[in-house]
Amino acid sequence: MRTLIKNCNIASPGFEIKNGSLFIEDNHIHSIITQGESLPSADHIIDGQGLTAVPGFIDIHCHGRNNCDFADGNADGVNTIGEHKLEEGVTTVLPTTLTLSEEALSDALSAISKYNGKGCRMPAVHLEGPFINPSEVGAQNPNYVRMPDIGMVDRLTRIFPIKKVSFAPELPCGDAFVTSLLAKGITPSAAHSAAKYNEFARCYAKGLRNLTHFCNQMSPIHHRDIGLVGAGLLHDTVYAEMICDKIHTSANMIQLAFKVKGIDHMILITDAMRAAGMPDGPYTLGGLDVIVSNGAARLASNGALAGSILQINTALRNIVEITGLPLCDALKASSLTASYSLGLNNLGRLETGYLADIAMIDNDFNVHKTIVGGELRYEK
Ligand SMILES: [Zn+2]
Repeated sequence: MRTLIKNCNIASPGFEIKNGSLFIEDNHIHSIITQGESLPSADHIIDGQGLTAVPGFIDIHCHGRNNCDFADGNADGVNTIGEHKLEEGVTTVLPTTLTLSEEALSDALSAISKYNGKGCRMPAVHLEGPFINPSEVGAQNPNYVRMPDIGMVDRLTRIFPIKKVSFAPELPCGDAFVTSLLAKGITPSAAHSAAKYNEFARCYAKGLRNLTHFCNQMSPIHHRDIGLVGAGLLHDTVYAEMICDKIHTSANMIQLAFKVKGIDHMILITDAMRAAGMPDGPYTLGGLDVIVSNGAARLASNGALAGSILQINTALRNIVEITGLPLCDALKASSLTASYSLGLNNLGRLETGYLADIAMIDNDFNVHKTIVGGELRYEK
C-alpha cells in the first residue's frame, strides 16, 4: 500500500518545508518530496489542504478522556479513549493508572489488553503510584499508597506491558527499585515526592532520569536544598515532563524550565482525566469527587488539582507562544523526546524509515487529520 499526502507543509525535528508531499509505503515514511519534484504514483492520496504535517503526538501521561478513565477497568472505555485521543493529534498514548489496589490495577491492565487498536497506539502502560509519598498524594487516593514493590510490578506487567513507573524516590529502597525497573526495561520516574536533593541523587546515580509532572506534587526549589524541582533544572540529562496548561505550571515557570533545560529534555504531557473533551461539571478520579470548571479539574474536598483537561495540541501551542521556539524545535517536546525517554526509536520524526504517525495541524494548532501507520484514522 502506497499513500501520498500532498499539498502540505512538513515540520519535523530539525527542518520545516513548505508545499511538500509525504510518500508512505505500508506503515513507514518512504520519502519527503519537495516542491517541484515529480510525485510518485500511489494507491491512495490524502489532500493535505495546506495544513502542516508534524510527527503524531505521544502522550506518556494520560488517565482518560471523553468520560472514560483507564482505571475504570472497562474495555469499551479504553476503546473510547484510544479513538478520541486522535482528535488532539495523539498517535501513541501510555495509558496511565492511579494509586489503587492491586486488584483494581489488574482489572485496568486487563481491560487495556483488550484494546481494539482502532485509535492511537497503546504500546504499554504507565503506573503512576501506588508507590508514592503519603505527604504528596495530591489527587491520588491515600488509602492505596504503599511501599515500592517490584513483585507487584512483575505481576502486573504479565497482564499488559509496563513501560514507566512513577514513584517517590525517597521511599525505602528507592535506589534499588530504580535498578530493578531499569533491568526490566521500565523507565523509572520521580513523582508525588518530598525527596531532598541527596535522596534524588542516590536514585540519579542508579539511572533515574525522569520527573513526572515536573513541579507538581514534588519538593520545590529552596536555596539550601534544591529538591526535585532544582534537580530537574540542574541536570541537563534529566527529562522534565510538564503539564503546560498554564494552570498546573505558570507561564513564567514554563518559560524558566525551557530556558534553563533547553528543548531536548522537555516532554509535554497532559495528565488528562476523564473530563478531557467533555463539558464542565462533576466527575470522579480514582474514587474521589472532582469539579471541572474554567479549564481546571479540582478535588471537591480540598480544591487540589486533580489531573487536567489539557489536550496536547494546546500544550504545544502554549509552549510556542511562551518560548517563541520555532515549530521544528518545539515539537521535539510533543513526541520525539517522549519516545527517547522510553527507548523507542522509530517515532517522533517525519523521515525515511520512521513510522508514518502524523498529525495535520493548522496555524492555530487545531488538529484536522490524524494518521497512524499511514492510515487516516481521524478527520475533523
Ligand atoms: Zn500525579
